[in-house]
Amino acid sequence: MNNKTLMDNLRCIPDFPQKGINFRDVTTLFKSPECLNIMVDELYEMYKNKGITKIVGIESRGFVLSSALAVRLGAGVVLCRKPGKLPAETVKENYTKEYGSDTIEIHKDAISSEDVVLLHDDLLATGGTMRAAYNLVKKFNPKEILVNFIIEITDEGLHGRDAFEKDTEVTTLITV
Ligand code: IMP
Repeated sequence: MNNKTLMDNLRCIPDFPQKGINFRDVTTLFKSPECLNIMVDELYEMYKNKGITKIVGIESRGFVLSSALAVRLGAGVVLCRKPGKLPAETVKENYTKEYGSDTIEIHKDAISSEDVVLLHDDLLATGGTMRAAYNLVKKFNPKEILVNFIIEITDEGLHGRDAFEKDTEVTTLITV
């Protein structure tokens, strides 16, 4: 269920980063102490009994709530980053986007087969970015992988959830 305070505080920027794109700007939710509390409380309630041991945040807006929630859950935080940013040995995943391709990576020693992993990012559009992150985490063979976003876009003919198998638990705090 969409929380009214979150909906009221979410800023939309038309034509960013290019004409025709209606950019949902979550920084307005991050800067509000009330919104931050609502989001972390809701996430905590959703995941407190799931045995999460690691939260993987997707660069960069995924890092914010990953950290806050990890503290509440007693889990660790893993950074999923664009190439060349992580200093130690990494595992990589290449993926195609609308225009061209991209790569994301995670430190090779960041996740073990004993982990229950929650993947988190700010926004689900086509699902391409998160699917790549899911595929990347799968290489570590964890016990379970769950997926969460702050916002799910469904109003532009998007079906980002379809990027995941039906038995993958995908949750969102706001649907627009
Ligand atoms: P997808 O891969 O098409 O699902 O796009 C999601 C990725 O693009 C996420 O990492 C988002 O941070 C970013 N993104 C796409 N559109 C928006 C937006 O409107 N607001 C914030 N981030 C966006």
